[in-house]
Amino acid sequence: MKEKAQKMISCKIAAKLMSLSCERKLTLKEQIALKAHLAVCETCRNCQRQIKALQKILPDYIQAVLRFPPPPELSLPLAAQKRILKNLAAQTD
Ligand SMILES: [Zn+2]
Repeated sequence: MKEKAQKMISCKIAAKLMSLSCERKLTLKEQIALKAHLAVCETCRNCQRQIKALQKILPDYIQAVLRFPPPPELSLPLAAQKRILKNLAAQTD
């Protein structure tokens, strides 16, 4: 017997899953839901492509920044850097 098709996730949820996939491996259920959505939604497919492209260049970018750090006068004060990192860490909880 054919199973009834799962309810399609919204673009908002698809975006959330794409973002989540940058941080951790998606569960099988999440992968299937996202794949099904991407199969029918061109907007999210484009979004996914851009995320993949960014993920590809990001390591090179980080390496370049580490190798050629900006001059101190262009850097944020250490306190500000720490504050930003703390806020970023808090958001992923
Ligand atoms: Zn969509």
